Amino acid sequence: MDNKIILRDGHIHSPYCPHGTKDSFEFYVQKAIELGLEEITFTEHMPLPGNFMDPEFLKHCSPTLDVIEKYIRELDYIKEKFKSVIKINTGLEVDYVEGYEEKIKELLNIYGNKIEDSILSVHFIKVGDEYYCVDASPEEFGKLAQKLGSVEKVYDRYYETLLKSVKADLGIFKPKRIGHPTLVRIFNTEYPLEYTNVELLEEIIKEIKIRNYEVDFNTAGIRKPYCKETYPSGVFAELVEHYAVKVVYGSDAHTALDVGRDFVFKY
Ligand SMILES: [Zn+2]
Ligand SMILES: [Zn+2]
Repeated sequence: MDNKIILRDGHIHSPYCPHGTKDSFEFYVQKAIELGLEEITFTEHMPLPGNFMDPEFLKHCSPTLDVIEKYIRELDYIKEKFKSVIKINTGLEVDYVEGYEEKIKELLNIYGNKIEDSILSVHFIKVGDEYYCVDASPEEFGKLAQKLGSVEKVYDRYYETLLKSVKADLGIFKPKRIGHPTLVRIFNTEYPLEYTNVELLEEIIKEIKIRNYEVDFNTAGIRKPYCKETYPSGVFAELVEHYAVKVVYGSDAHTALDVGRDFVFKY
């Protein structure tokens, strides 16, 4: 694919994100306008479907139900305010948590009518009866690899979960875009691995393709100190291109300065 100018950022967080900055919506939008973007989607984390891990930790992952309602209301105002300059979509980043499909569906059914664009992401994997967050910290990732026996096994579990997320029945408001599909590589400079189970990756891509889903081409990994690459990258990115799966660039900005970041390069 040739160099092209990307005019849309499909993955942006908001002042309501508990682990993000308090930058205002206006600040994010101004940055997008400065860059000449024509369309953006705010994809705040949807509330999680249950307390499957330490509630203190989970509190930092997503806003609560009442906060998300405020988020949606404020976006209605912001969209109106800037409508002659830039198209702004109201969106959510929805966590796929294995075993919580029904609860996720319920949540999606609450917000579905208000949501114009959304992303389905895997941050948590289930190991036995326990859940682990893959992008919490290098230390936690190390513990997970130890628990499973190897880094490769963490990748296996991650991609198996990703496959389940693509196939899951989450109702009529299920997101059509798969978030940062190689997030498991977030600490790859600390835990290097050239993943060789290409068959599994290919199966994921095929399942994405037959559903006409999209992939979030996420540049946040470039800014992560132990990652330095986009999600997807490597073989996964090659498969996306090979199967001509539609990609939507996403900065995954949690600060206004990161909107549209690293969008101009060859993919
Ligand atoms: Zn976030
Ligand atoms: Zn995410």
